[in-house]
Amino acid sequence: MVTELPECVFQITGEEAMVAFGRKLGNACIGGAVVFLDGDLGAGKTTISRGVLQSFGHQGAVKSPTYTLVEPYQFDGQTLYHFDLYRLADPEELEYIGIRDYFAESNALCLVEWPARGVGYLPTPDVKVAVTVSGEGRMLHCTAATERGQNIIKSLGG
Ligand code: ADP
Ligand code: MG
Repeated sequence: MVTELPECVFQITGEEAMVAFGRKLGNACIGGAVVFLDGDLGAGKTTISRGVLQSFGHQGAVKSPTYTLVEPYQFDGQTLYHFDLYRLADPEELEYIGIRDYFAESNALCLVEWPARGVGYLPTPDVKVAVTVSGEGRMLHCTAATERGQNIIKSLGG
């Protein structure tokens, strides 16, 4: 049982700094984790995802898995699933793509944009990053709900 709920808040201005945060998050998630990225359209969720992917060696753009819901990546020693549930009309659709199998892989890193669209079909995340527009930049509120998540938050400097 998790008795402590660590959290940390970052104010990040600019796309480059946001990608750098994603790289740091990726490094903290080696070995697998479920990470929810919450926030409105344009908040910066995919920008963070790009940084996470870069930390595993992915270069260039990040394909938006909007229509397919999930884009899988296989890196040396790390499987990563990038979900974008924006287009999900009914969370039940997640059953059809075999959602349970993705999250059953405890060594995989699952990044989920728009997790609220999948409510009832997603597991408790290890870490939740809530992104809101704040001045010229973004406010990132990171919270952990598991022991694994607590360690990730600690690595982030929270
Ligand atoms: P989302 O996936 O949440 O819809 P994106 O990652 O596509 O959002 O980002 C939308 C826009 O916000 C991009 O133009 C990106 O450069 C910009 N952006 C992302 N993070 C920041 C930040 N910390 N400060 C300023 N602009 C940002
Ligand atoms: Mg996005």
